[in-house]
Amino acid sequence: MKELSDIERYEFKKKLDEIKSCKGQHTELISLYIPPNRQISDVMNYLRNEYSQSTNIKSKTTRKNVLSAIESIMSRLKYFKKPPENGLVFFVGHKTAGANQTEMVTYVIEPPLPVPSFLYRCDSSFYTQPLEDMLAERDVYGLFLIDRRECTIGILRGKRIETIDYLTSRVPGKHGRGGQSQRRFERLIEIAAHEWFEKCGKKISEIFLGEKDLKGIFVGGPGPTKYYFVEGDYLHYEIKNKIIDIIDTGYTDESGLRELVMKISEKMHDLKISQEKRIMRRFLKEITKKKKSLAIYGEDEVRKALEMGALDTLLISEGLDKYRVKLVCDSCGYEEEKTTDKAEIKKMESNPPKCKKCGGNMVVKEKTEIVEELSRKAQEKGTKVELISTDSEEGSTLLSTFGGIAGILRFEI
Ligand code: ZN
Repeated sequence: MKELSDIERYEFKKKLDEIKSCKGQHTELISLYIPPNRQISDVMNYLRNEYSQSTNIKSKTTRKNVLSAIESIMSRLKYFKKPPENGLVFFVGHKTAGANQTEMVTYVIEPPLPVPSFLYRCDSSFYTQPLEDMLAERDVYGLFLIDRRECTIGILRGKRIETIDYLTSRVPGKHGRGGQSQRRFERLIEIAAHEWFEKCGKKISEIFLGEKDLKGIFVGGPGPTKYYFVEGDYLHYEIKNKIIDIIDTGYTDESGLRELVMKISEKMHDLKISQEKRIMRRFLKEITKKKKSLAIYGEDEVRKALEMGALDTLLISEGLDKYRVKLVCDSCGYEEEKTTDKAEIKKMESNPPKCKKCGGNMVVKEKTEIVEELSRKAQEKGTKVELISTDSEEGSTLLSTFGGIAGILRFEI
């Protein structure tokens, strides 16, 4: 299956969040999924049928809203001879917009992956699950750490480390008092350890078997216990077969998971997280050079280099919650672009700033998320784009120290 790029995923997710936030007052929001191989005429027939059934809806407003939503879909569908490559998804209806107000919304989506099956649903919210499934991260690995005292189970999803479970044992230490009772004591310890490993094996197997598309498993922990555990008869055979590597870590708790991921990312170069760490390290190395540094940061600097075609790689933080807005003077037409945040945009909309040229009102004409705007510009210029998460240490450095926007140059400028 095709993998979405980070940017596609990011943009798609933002759109979905917006669609998900729409709420209808009654069951009057329509979701329609059309797979690529479905005939448009079939869909039209289906909608005509839904339309005539909806004329029976008792509540007058609901009926009116549902009928107009179906009409709207049908009038748009007329322009298609057949569904696009991946099919088509409609979300249409009257969403609530403040006190007793509704607003008609229409989303027509050409999804990044094929629509799996036909679906029509009328509800008080839009049904987005099939699209969310398309967003599911496919770069997924199981992680666990084990010794005789602790066991931590986690999952690496793309660049994200999730802690799933943490178990602790009551296996006593090996040192007793010696003599006859010492042997008995050691025997009891071994029984307790065996029970502990069985418990962990069961839990680990259960969690990882429930995770479809697991690409592999990494094991960590201090000392030889982890090898003993993996070789023993504790894990489900399918899980055992998925183990890629066993690595020494200093810890068996949550911090051990991060330690494990750090170590595997150095060895496994095709992991998403490895790629991110690699590029951030290159940037940090460049930035500390006193001479001939190819690293730049800050929006203005990066924009300038981008315009010049001098930027090799754009580094942009997922955590950047900013917009690029275009303001146009409503009397002389003077235009201005600026980067700002949501709160500031609200302010500008209710209290427009004055035009530099004529003193008229500057009206917000377009607003685009900065991540989207800059990555599009970069793509036009043939600049590589790296969307950097805030999960890794390097990633949060990009946001906190460098303002979330940085780059590596093709040549010195
Ligand atoms: Zn003006």
